[in-house]
Amino acid sequence: MSAMLAETRPDEATAVVEAPRRERKRVVIIGGGFAGIAAAHALRHADAEVVLIDRRNHHIFQPLLYQVATAVLSPAEIAAPIRQLEVKQPNLSVVLAEVTGVDVASRTIEASSPGVGVRKIAFDYLVVATGMRPSYFGHDEFARYAPGLKNLSDAETIRAKILGAFELAATTEDESERARQMTFVLVGAGPTGVELAASLAHMVKVTLRGNFRRIDPSKSAIILLDAGNRVLPTFAEPLSRRVTRRLTKLGVKVMTGVKVETVDDKGVIAGGSRIPSATVLWTAGVAASPIPKLLGTKIDRAGRALVDPFLKVVDAPGVFVVGDAASVMQNEHPVPGVAQAAIQEGRYVGRLIAKELMGRKVKRPFRYFDKGNMAVVGKNYAVLERGWLRTSGFLTWLVWAFVHILSLPQLQNRLRVQHQWVWSYFTGQRSSRLIPEPPRTPGADTR
Ligand SMILES: Cc1cc2nc3c(=O)[nH]c(=O)nc-3n(C[C@H](O)[C@H](O)[C@H](O)COP(=O)(O)OP(=O)(O)OC[C@H]3O[C@@H](n4cnc5c(N)ncnc54)[C@H](O)[C@@H]3O)c2cc1C
Repeated sequence: MSAMLAETRPDEATAVVEAPRRERKRVVIIGGGFAGIAAAHALRHADAEVVLIDRRNHHIFQPLLYQVATAVLSPAEIAAPIRQLEVKQPNLSVVLAEVTGVDVASRTIEASSPGVGVRKIAFDYLVVATGMRPSYFGHDEFARYAPGLKNLSDAETIRAKILGAFELAATTEDESERARQMTFVLVGAGPTGVELAASLAHMVKVTLRGNFRRIDPSKSAIILLDAGNRVLPTFAEPLSRRVTRRLTKLGVKVMTGVKVETVDDKGVIAGGSRIPSATVLWTAGVAASPIPKLLGTKIDRAGRALVDPFLKVVDAPGVFVVGDAASVMQNEHPVPGVAQAAIQEGRYVGRLIAKELMGRKVKRPFRYFDKGNMAVVGKNYAVLERGWLRTSGFLTWLVWAFVHILSLPQLQNRLRVQHQWVWSYFTGQRSSRLIPEPPRTPGADTR
């Protein structure tokens, strides 16, 4: 039985099966995020043909996406081309395609590339590392008005929405419309919501100061809503309280215990009251990509595949799920959906496959090593939790900045981000304040 995404069912006649060369086993990895790249890297010395498939040609450093959305960084500064991995790893091929079907029984996947059509690619081992996407908790109609933050195009959409709102506020003569344009609502007070709200607060107070004659951007309302009873629910309560105080000091209105009922073109209805807003941002929920479902295995409520302690899919030999797409339990707690967990899982599976290819059996199940949890709350302030250690403030912020610079995918990103941060720190300016022009019909306008 072959499972496919309904909306992308390909024309069977166009699909040609690419079989592995007989002398080498083929490992197909779907997803060039943190987990997929770690798996590919761990297979660099393996006697195998490694095929890494991603629908994007670039890897994104998601922890800094919020800085692209708030104009601190430009997209290229937090992304790196996946293809360049081929240069360093001779047994690796990178394929730009969207995987639309998986047939565990015949050990093939279907991948569709624009202009090329559908290809069936056979595998001996399959590693699914397809990550998550925003979830609107059954209210997909909200997506139209409240973009989520998952990729570079989301970040650019949000940036354009924020900057565009100030331009419209400065243009309109209508007081209530001006207030609506200058009200920003963020739904979801997890790390992304908190980081985005704090960065936006700094932008309206510092970066945009004096940029408009008719409006004062520092008078904007930034509202962070959450149905839960505190911000950063995955952190210890005292840290949540400190973060709430910090956000309030920055001018963010934190509203917890408030459920969003409607998001529309006028704003949101939350806790029974309407909040007029032209910019609603969705930083609340995530759900797994549809690929784990195609494996025919059990999935949890968020669509993640339930895997065994070796990250294998039960009853599907040689098939693994890693990173955000996997539901992994450790000491009766779920392994968190963070970059470190994805990297460790990808690396573990890559090494496991490399050992199996050498005829060795891996006896040690996956163990997640928690290096700690961090969130940044504007300039000079971050929180860190690692076991019993809980810190916050300027020194923690320095640690945050150092760790993030070192974790960027390539030297070029590290240098560019460092440069932008120093510039922004001392001048308060942000160098990526662009609202893209709408596409024009070729030839329609020659100006
Ligand atoms: C805004 C934001 C901020 C975050 N901040 C932090 C943070 O500060 N610290 C932290 O540790 N974690 C953070 N995270 C979480 C972290 O980024 C994820 O846990 C991590 O990216 C998971 O890695 P992954 O490889 O499983 O998935 P991803 O990195 O999401 O990669 C999945 C890849 O699969 C590809 N893909 C998906 N479906 C298909 C398909 N059908 N065909 C082909 N390719 C496909 C995608 O294009 C993508 O490249 C953040 C996440 C977001 C969204």
